Amino acid sequence: MTERLWSPWRMEYILSDKEKGRCIFCEAIAQDRDEKNLILYRGKHAFIILNLYPYNNGHLMVVPYEHVPSTEDLAPEVLMELMLLVNKSLQVLRKVMSPQGFNIGINMGASAGAGIEDHVHIHVVPRWTGDTNFMPVLAATRVVPELLEQTYAKMQAVLTTV
Ligand SMILES: [Zn+2]
Repeated sequence: MTERLWSPWRMEYILSDKEKGRCIFCEAIAQDRDEKNLILYRGKHAFIILNLYPYNNGHLMVVPYEHVPSTEDLAPEVLMELMLLVNKSLQVLRKVMSPQGFNIGINMGASAGAGIEDHVHIHVVPRWTGDTNFMPVLAATRVVPELLEQTYAKMQAVLTTV
């Protein structure tokens, strides 16, 4: 069950492998088009971004601005903001999607399933009872851009209220 849940994030790996030497997080931060890049929120040390290849509706990531591979490389204030943004994400997801649970986790290193292994990030995935029953492993391929944009808009609207 666990393996099945986390394996779709290897989609990221496929992407990063294609674009060697580039970091999609750093590129997204550097650009001034958050909506197009699905950046929901920019904090002082970290930001929230929707996953382009979501495992589930609302699958997002909390990412430090710093391009480092491990939480061990981050200063205490950055670590604290990461968790505060995880909390903010939970609040937004609860309001927008009423999930019944969450998976929150970090895949550190390619062997652990990290797609973008040079830039550590925390996955937040809302869960509903039975969602694995109807979602095939490659469900991400069926998520159309319009749906992702809708999710972005809904979450963006709620973000200011939490
Ligand atoms: Zn980076």
